[in-house]
Amino acid sequence: MIQSRKEQFDHLFPNEPAFRWKQIEQGFFSSARDWSDLTTLSKSMREQITEIPWMSVEAKQTFKSGNGDTHKAILTVAGDKQIETVLMKNKREAWTICVSSQIGCAMRCGFCATGKMGLSRSLIADEIIDQLRFWQHYIEDEGLEGRISNIVFMGMGEPLANYPEVKKTLNTILKHTDIGRTRITVSTVGVLPRLEQILTDDEWPHIRLAVSLHSAIPTTRKQIVPTSFDEFLPKLEAWAKAYLKKFGNRRHHLTFEYVMLKDVNDTEKHARTLANFVKRIGNVRVNLIPYNLTGVEFTCSTDSATHMFQDILKEKGVVTTIRHTMGDDIEAACGQLIVEDNKT
Ligand code: SAH
Repeated sequence: MIQSRKEQFDHLFPNEPAFRWKQIEQGFFSSARDWSDLTTLSKSMREQITEIPWMSVEAKQTFKSGNGDTHKAILTVAGDKQIETVLMKNKREAWTICVSSQIGCAMRCGFCATGKMGLSRSLIADEIIDQLRFWQHYIEDEGLEGRISNIVFMGMGEPLANYPEVKKTLNTILKHTDIGRTRITVSTVGVLPRLEQILTDDEWPHIRLAVSLHSAIPTTRKQIVPTSFDEFLPKLEAWAKAYLKKFGNRRHHLTFEYVMLKDVNDTEKHARTLANFVKRIGNVRVNLIPYNLTGVEFTCSTDSATHMFQDILKEKGVVTTIRHTMGDDIEAACGQLIVEDNKT
């Protein structure tokens, strides 16, 4: 098990008052670029603390899309493993980052490149947090305009299969940055026990949740997402109703993600079944995702099929958006995150 910076700190400095760590953590999100910049710490502590890594990720390679709107980084983490993270321009003239929560993924969704890697290990909170810090430094170093306003947990991995570390990450970011709860989205394949846990966990911050539904027809869902629980759809429906009853308001909705796969889940029947499913639940938005090629098994629905699908949902009063694909020229688009070195 990899030791967190906090664990290493407690080991090195067992007698420090609690506020000291808080001060250090604040320093991680400041303009400081190394331990030596944390001038609030005593000189002797600054010397000794260098045993703890200032950054838990290190850039191996970065890529920039042709139009400069999307940047991808391959980062090395402990164990000489690699993860990917993405920086994307958003409509608010700011940046959205897409972070990884695991190295690889155990969920094996048929259309996702990361799923093909299998799971190496989960990331610890420091490693997720440092993806944000990495991009903050990158923006500064590259002289890019705009700040990071949004975070999506849509990189490699299943965030809810790494619940404690993702929770720690969320709480740390909310505490030390101005990125608010409605600007953070955790995307999940729908790990039901963890979704249930969220309903009663007082420490789980109410950021936005997106569930990768991909079909409201059980056989199709199981075909695309092989890890689907038995009776997944009725259980998700019951959970979503309970979630919205407890936490929903005009600003707090749920999102269902739906990757558009030609002739697999994009027919009129699929659209009508999805509309009915969503209508039974309530404040749910649907985000249709054009499929980014990752292999030969699937092809992307045509634009006209996607728009027809959207029209059926809209007619039924379901708020439905189509995701704009970014960064496909640098394989930074959804589901394209895979690191060759990890495949061994
Ligand atoms: N494990 C999480 C996060 C995965 S990535 C989850 O399942 O939600 C975020 C989104 O990208 C998910 O909705 C996922 O299904 C989708 N995705 C994966 N591969 C894709 C691909 N090749 N094209 C388009 N979207 C894809």
